[in-house]
Amino acid sequence: MNRYHSWGLYPKISPKKVKKIFWRNESSVFENCNKVLPFGLGRSYGDVCLVDNGILIDTTELKHLIRFDQENGILHCESGVTLEQILKHIVPKGWFLPVTPGTKYITVGGAIANDVHGKNHHKAGSFGHYVKSFDLLRSDGSIVHCSPEENPELFQATIGGLGLTGLILNAEFTLKKIPSEYLYLQTIKFKSISEFFEINDASEKNFEYTVAWVDLTNGSLNSVRGIYQRANHFFSDQSVKQKKSKISIPFVLPFSLINNLSIFIFNALYYSKQFDKYAEHIIHYDPFFYPLDGVNNWNYLYGRKGFLQYQFVIPKDNCERNLLTILNEIKKLGLSSFLTVLKTFGNKPKAGILSFPREGLTLAIDFPITQDIFQKLNKLDSTVVDFGGALYPAKDARMSSKIFHESYPEVNNFLQFKDPLFNSAFWERVMSC
Ligand SMILES: Cc1cc2nc3c(=O)[nH]c(=O)nc-3n(C[C@H](O)[C@H](O)[C@H](O)COP(=O)(O)OP(=O)(O)OC[C@H]3O[C@@H](n4cnc5c(N)ncnc54)[C@H](O)[C@@H]3O)c2cc1C
Repeated sequence: MNRYHSWGLYPKISPKKVKKIFWRNESSVFENCNKVLPFGLGRSYGDVCLVDNGILIDTTELKHLIRFDQENGILHCESGVTLEQILKHIVPKGWFLPVTPGTKYITVGGAIANDVHGKNHHKAGSFGHYVKSFDLLRSDGSIVHCSPEENPELFQATIGGLGLTGLILNAEFTLKKIPSEYLYLQTIKFKSISEFFEINDASEKNFEYTVAWVDLTNGSLNSVRGIYQRANHFFSDQSVKQKKSKISIPFVLPFSLINNLSIFIFNALYYSKQFDKYAEHIIHYDPFFYPLDGVNNWNYLYGRKGFLQYQFVIPKDNCERNLLTILNEIKKLGLSSFLTVLKTFGNKPKAGILSFPREGLTLAIDFPITQDIFQKLNKLDSTVVDFGGALYPAKDARMSSKIFHESYPEVNNFLQFKDPLFNSAFWERVMSC
């Protein structure tokens, strides 16, 4: 399988051609192109990184670190540099990423274009909040330096700009000082959504990282159970044993191994892996932030048809009641999910015009592709948007133009910054009204 697909293996859209960009001033990549889109590592789940009948520009050869100000924790690197590469360089020197998503296999360009968030959004905001500047290559061959001071509007449009304002060549961003590569982690079992909120309220002030795994397969809504994680960076001069082995799924299976039974078994086992209600751990940053990276190509388990990740945010007001309504709909629609993750977003203003994170509650759910999944999720979209919520473009492969416009009203302001040659399958879908 070639690597120019998205993580959910859906939709299956192949570019007309792939071009690699090697140099920071290489505007010739746009020659003879009708439509282009930058492509990082394709860790977006849906079609935000795909282009139909156009040219993908593979950015992964822009892989050089340019400057590291170790004193002040400022990194300047090319846009195809991966978070994995950065961590190898900065962690031994006592620095960490200011914000990281649940995989380290993404590029800096991808982190900016989707304005990614992590387990610390309630305290730190999104990746875009830490970007100091970048150079943007536009299709007319110009290179525009953008920062909060220089071309501030294009700067804001490019953060969370879904790769549509030009190609980010390099970026400068601030890092976070850490005492060691370990974290102090507490895990707490909960047995209802209201208990989740109680624990979350008691945790957000004192813990930098918070997130919960939720089991939707267990009985009624009153007994939705899960495991809450809260953690802080921690000083440890003793190395904690770290499992190094990595499992790999060698090819896409012809059928999905993810079905109601395997979902039920996985969730039951995961919940039972912790015996007591409350546990403490000293944990290396890698398994804490990137548990799924331990299985190479885990997306292949969903089989050839692929899967959808459905991630939404709903505003803080009435979020407990509204979440229960949505979970109830999910149950009524007969949907079950292998992995369900619940987290709150803090109140930092959006870093980019089209950024997804906004104050409230976010839930991410994985659904295998089945015949009726699209119709079912359309129903859920309406409920999310009626509650004032939005879906995450980085995970989306199917939301309608209407849903996008209702939840991203800033799109009209964004349009003036879009590069005319840049387009994606996502964009063509949500703008087709
Ligand atoms: C296991 C897993 C866990 C994840 N967890 C999270 C999470 O916790 N939080 C979160 O926010 N996301 C999460 N994601 C999603 C992922 O972080 C984003 O989709 C990220 O943007 C992918 O980066 P990429 O380098 O693979 O870019 P791609 O997926 O290849 O591209 C993403 C977008 O960036 C644009 N782009 C890429 N490079 C450039 C460039 N140089 N210039 C301009 N535009 C560019 C592309 O055109 C596209 O629109 C997760 C994904 C996986 C697979």
